Amino acid sequence: MKITLDLPEHTVDPSDGYNDPYYDPGVCGNCGYEKSGTMAKLVPYGWVHTEPPHEGEKSCLQAIVDNLPQIGASAAWLVVGQHVARYPSRHSASTIRSVITELLKPAWKVRKEAGR
Ligand SMILES: [Zn+2]
Repeated sequence: MKITLDLPEHTVDPSDGYNDPYYDPGVCGNCGYEKSGTMAKLVPYGWVHTEPPHEGEKSCLQAIVDNLPQIGASAAWLVVGQHVARYPSRHSASTIRSVITELLKPAWKVRKEAGR
């Protein structure tokens, strides 16, 4: 199954804070470094870099996505679910339905084990 997440994006413009000594663009939710370039918001991580720090390296967003299978299917679905729940209007009904179905699977399993 393939789910496309529509992530809010914003591009950090350093000239915004050029004259402000207290300018603080905030930090990336993955690496903790200052935001720069195009940032995408993935709940629950927050704003993360979409551009690799150096050529040939992974962006923070790519690193998170690549790591999802390793954190386990239900944890990964929880990430997707939190994101879709926060921005439901950005996702198709079929995406939302698939996410809900996946999120409910652990509950079904518990019920089956309980013999109901
Ligand atoms: Zn980062």
